[in-house]
Amino acid sequence: MDAVTATATPPSAPLPPASRIASTSAAPRGAPTPRERVALLLGRGAREVARRLGRGGGTAIPGLVAGALAPRLVERLASQPGRGVVTVTGTNGKTTTTHLLAAIMRAGGIDPLTNPSGSNLERGVIAAYSGSVDGRGLLPQAADRAGLFEVDEAVLARLLPRLRPRLAVFLNLFRDQLDRYGEVDSVAEGWARALDAVDTPPTLVLNADDPTIAQLAEHARGGATVTFGVDDDAVALTHADHASDARFCTCGSRFTYAAIYMGHVGRWHCPSCGRTRATPDVSARRIVLREDGSSVEATIAGEAVTFELPLAGLYSVYNALAAIAAAHAIGIDAPTIASALAEAGPAFGRQERFEVAGRRVRLLLAKNPSGLNEVLRVLTVAAPPLTVLAMLNDGVQDGQDVSWIYDADLEMLAGTDATVVCSGDRADDLALRCSLAGVTPVAVIAHTERALDAALARTAPGARLDVVATYTAMMDVRAALARRAGVGAYWEAQP
Ligand SMILES: [Zn+2]
Repeated sequence: MDAVTATATPPSAPLPPASRIASTSAAPRGAPTPRERVALLLGRGAREVARRLGRGGGTAIPGLVAGALAPRLVERLASQPGRGVVTVTGTNGKTTTTHLLAAIMRAGGIDPLTNPSGSNLERGVIAAYSGSVDGRGLLPQAADRAGLFEVDEAVLARLLPRLRPRLAVFLNLFRDQLDRYGEVDSVAEGWARALDAVDTPPTLVLNADDPTIAQLAEHARGGATVTFGVDDDAVALTHADHASDARFCTCGSRFTYAAIYMGHVGRWHCPSCGRTRATPDVSARRIVLREDGSSVEATIAGEAVTFELPLAGLYSVYNALAAIAAAHAIGIDAPTIASALAEAGPAFGRQERFEVAGRRVRLLLAKNPSGLNEVLRVLTVAAPPLTVLAMLNDGVQDGQDVSWIYDADLEMLAGTDATVVCSGDRADDLALRCSLAGVTPVAVIAHTERALDAALARTAPGARLDVVATYTAMMDVRAALARRAGVGAYWEAQP
């Protein structure tokens, strides 16, 4: 990518004291107790066993073991990085935003300790540390390191007082797997209560366009806030999609919108109390969405910056804006941000590309109605012919109630002449949903490898196959794609 121009200066917005390095103590910070050191060693042993048995990357097992033996380990470990802890939360985009911010941090001279496989619960945080600490349980070169963790939206309220982040990034809040999480409002209320209770308020990085997220600014308690959003009507929807929930202001009235970018995300306004979406600190003014990436003209604290993003879709632009806003809050300059974004590849299972049997395969994760709608928009940007392997599982991590596919607008594929193969544990349900949307699948094959064969056979040599999958289906098909493409297992590919 060579179209990166950056004219912005380092952040002019004042940073709170908490965002500055304040590591002056001579004693090791957060040194674990002997019991905690043993717990870390046992956790590390468990990871090796998991890998040798081929049970995945062992990204959660060390945390499970160590966390059970030493319940205050998270607090101890999170106090070690001299640059503090950054949390990234929201329904969609956590993994990609964390991945992009990690790339920017590295370019800015900060070595992030992160949980890159999407293992985002408490045990994932411990697992990230257990692979990096020395025999005394201390993080080497801790002064120049930051903890950078994607945190599940349902557990953030519990983890916030324990991780004590200096920077907390909030992306969006959509309906997702309601059988596990309950209503979105209760999640948002939990976040607000946790922010009200934490001893040192973090700098908040907030999506100005999601009113549920933007209202968290009222819980900043004197800490800084940096907001991001889109100001380009050319990418607005002409009508609200079906995944859009009605959103209500804390005053009780329903928001109205001057523009909707996705779901309930847009330029909102409360007609009763006057709460309104403010101009974001990091704003995307002109966005060109292409089949395989995006060009964005943005402003950062009033300064113009253009960046190229090698990821498709407006949702990827939002993830990039969140990463930019967080990097800006940390003090990384715009040219460094822009070049790091242009170089950053996709995160695990999120728009990863594989070359298989002479076909270009792109893997897209979709796990809820709003996420699937954004993926469908990416597919419909592409020039025909469109070949899609669509996979629906109903595991715990996918959400066991698959009725959510009726809230997604699969009708977007109608009239595109798409060739669709349905797969996964619930292939039949997905095929029925597609047929009702006016897209009759050419094949319905539950078995992953056989479905992949069928979809590849229907993709012309040199053409692209798009694989759209829920979480556990993505893990399955990714393993098959990685093997066929000669790419290593995911725990071998970590930076
Ligand atoms: Zn209101």
